[in-house]
Amino acid sequence: ATKIDRQRAWVEIDVNALAHNVREIKTLLSPQTALMAVVKADAYGHGAEIVAKTVLEHGASWLAVATVTEGIDLRQAGIDCGILILGAINSPEEIIEIAKWQLQPTICNSQQALIFSDVLSKMRTTLPVHLKLDTGMSRLGTNWQNSSEFVKLVYQLPYLKVKSIYSHLATADDPDPTIMLLQQQRFEDAISHLKTQGIVSPCLHLANSAATLSDESFHYDLVRVGLALYGLYPAPHLKSKINLKPVLQVKARVTQVKTLAPGTGVSYSHKYISDRDLTVAVVSIGYADGVVRNLSNNLPAIIRGQLVPQIGAITMDQLVVDVSSISNLQPGEIVTFLGQDGDRSITADDWAASLNTISWEILCGFKHRLPRIIK
Ligand code: PLP
Repeated sequence: ATKIDRQRAWVEIDVNALAHNVREIKTLLSPQTALMAVVKADAYGHGAEIVAKTVLEHGASWLAVATVTEGIDLRQAGIDCGILILGAINSPEEIIEIAKWQLQPTICNSQQALIFSDVLSKMRTTLPVHLKLDTGMSRLGTNWQNSSEFVKLVYQLPYLKVKSIYSHLATADDPDPTIMLLQQQRFEDAISHLKTQGIVSPCLHLANSAATLSDESFHYDLVRVGLALYGLYPAPHLKSKINLKPVLQVKARVTQVKTLAPGTGVSYSHKYISDRDLTVAVVSIGYADGVVRNLSNNLPAIIRGQLVPQIGAITMDQLVVDVSSISNLQPGEIVTFLGQDGDRSITADDWAASLNTISWEILCGFKHRLPRIIK
C-alpha cells in the first residue's frame, strides 16, 4: 500500500472475514470433502492473490479460475496447489502454457481431448485433466446421455490423466430443488454407467455455493465455492445455514462541500433538481471505479454512521451526495458505499436488488483503479 492509497477511493478486504467464511463453510463439509475456492475474475473483484493465500491457509485445498492467464498469475504469486481452469480450452498455445505452469484444464468433449492429446504428446508431457458433463446447465460439457464414450476416450489417451469428473448446477439457488435433483440424478446415472464400463471411483464434484449450503448430498469429493467465501448468500432461503461475513468494502472521500439553492440542477443532464436549500458533498468515486451509473439517484451511502442519499447522475470519477442532515462535514471525511459504518451497512445484495441483477456481478465490477487495502 502506498501513502496515497486511501486518499481518493479504495476497496478494503477483510481477511479475517474471509478466514471466518472458510471456517464456516468447512463446518458443513465432511472430512472426505475438499474445499475448492473459486477465485476467478480476480476473486470476484477481491484480489486473487490475497484471497488465494488466505483461503489456502484456512482450509481450502484447491483453487478454480476461469482462464489460463488467471491461473498463471496465481503460479507467479507462488501458489502451488492444484488449480482447475473452469473455462474451455481449444488452442494449442494455451495448452502449452497450461502444461508449462502445471495448471489443470477442464476438457469438455472428445474434440478438445484430442487437441490436448496431440499437443501433449508432442511435448511428451502428461497433464491432470477434469472432465465436464452437461447435466442440465446447457453450457460447457458433454451431454450426460452420451458421456461414456467421451470419458472412455480420455481414459485411453496416455498423456491425459483424469483427475475428476464434474458437472455444474443451473438452479441451485432456487428454493424449489426439482431441477437440481434432476441434474444430480443425471450425474449419478452417468457415473453408474461408467462403472459398468470399468471406470470406478473417479473424484466427483457438482456443488457451487448454493448446493454446498443446501444439502450434504451434493458435496461428493469436493465443493467449488465462490460467492459464499466472499460473505454473500446465493439466496435468502440459505441464510440460516451458516453465518457469513462480507469481505469487501468500498469507500471514498469527500472532496468538496457546498450549498445549493432551491431549483438547482445537479450533475449531467440535471437528473436531480433541488427542491430546497441543500448541502452537498462531492465524492471522489464514479462509474469507472465500479459504482454503476444506473444507480444514479438511488445509491445509498454512509457518512459518520448515517445513511445519506446520492443525487444526480453518477459520473466517471465523481458523484454527489446530499449531506444536509450532517453538520459541518469536511473534505477528507470517509463515505462508505459498500460495507459497514457504525450501525449502518450496505451490501452487494442491496445494489443487486436496485439494479435487478445478482451480487456476483456487483462484486466483479470493482475496477483496478481502486487500490485494495488489506485489513
Ligand atoms: N463452479 C463453476 C463451474 C462455476 O462456473 C462457478 C461460478 O460461476 C462456481 C462453481 C462457483 O459458483 P458460486 O459463486 O455460486 O459459488
